[in-house]
Amino acid sequence: AHRGRTPLIAGNWKMNLDHLQAVAFVQKLHWALKDAKHEDGTVEVAVFPPFTDIRTVQTLIDADKIPFSLGGQDLSAQDSGAYTGEISGAFLKKLDCGYVIIGHSERRQYHAESDEVVASKVQAALRHDLAPVICVGETLEQREESGPTAVSVAQLRTAVEGVPAGADIVVAYEPVWAIGTGEVASPGQAQEVCAALRAVIAEKMGEDAAARTRVLYGGSVKSANIASFMREPDVDGALVGGASLLVDEFAAIIRFQK
Ligand code: PGA
Repeated sequence: AHRGRTPLIAGNWKMNLDHLQAVAFVQKLHWALKDAKHEDGTVEVAVFPPFTDIRTVQTLIDADKIPFSLGGQDLSAQDSGAYTGEISGAFLKKLDCGYVIIGHSERRQYHAESDEVVASKVQAALRHDLAPVICVGETLEQREESGPTAVSVAQLRTAVEGVPAGADIVVAYEPVWAIGTGEVASPGQAQEVCAALRAVIAEKMGEDAAARTRVLYGGSVKSANIASFMREPDVDGALVGGASLLVDEFAAIIRFQK
């Protein structure tokens, strides 16, 4: 990872932990991280709870001065109105969210989110001053068909169309075949795609944006493999699913040693 880009370790809880469990979890994680590097800003920790937990987690991290960033797992492309069941970027911003995950492969797969929907959600996030964590990644079939980078590059090109050069965004490369499967990409595979994604940022938003934008790897990240990813020059952190629900394991990932 690059010195100018603070490593970001992001925990995507998915549909796990209700608001009561969330309180216990965040307190335990904060305790497990006493004296860890995130306290001095060397590593940024972000949690992405279900919507129904966010107010509770916000209150806790505010009251106890817990240095975790907060984000939503999705948002509406619309800002308000007759959209039953949807959550707007304005609501997330009001709860001190700094981030929102957009285009996770589970949203793409189970909610038919196209690259165009993802792009309009990126615009919605930016309208509300939320940094979108734009997820891209190929299935095994797509990797065999079109190679390691083509799908992710095409997904990101659409997602950042019209995004201004100065926008604060995060990109997460998550090969679908590595999500929740225990099958992890090799550090070299992650680097190859993350470098290609950084080149998309350079092409669409300019070299300065490419140099400061964090590109994460996600897919079966664990304490045993985090250091190998972080050694790669274009990997600036991790988007962690399953392991982000285990206090000691997630704390060990945050304490990664290069
Ligand atoms: P995983 O999930 O760490 O459980 O593989 C990653 C993700 O979906 O963000």
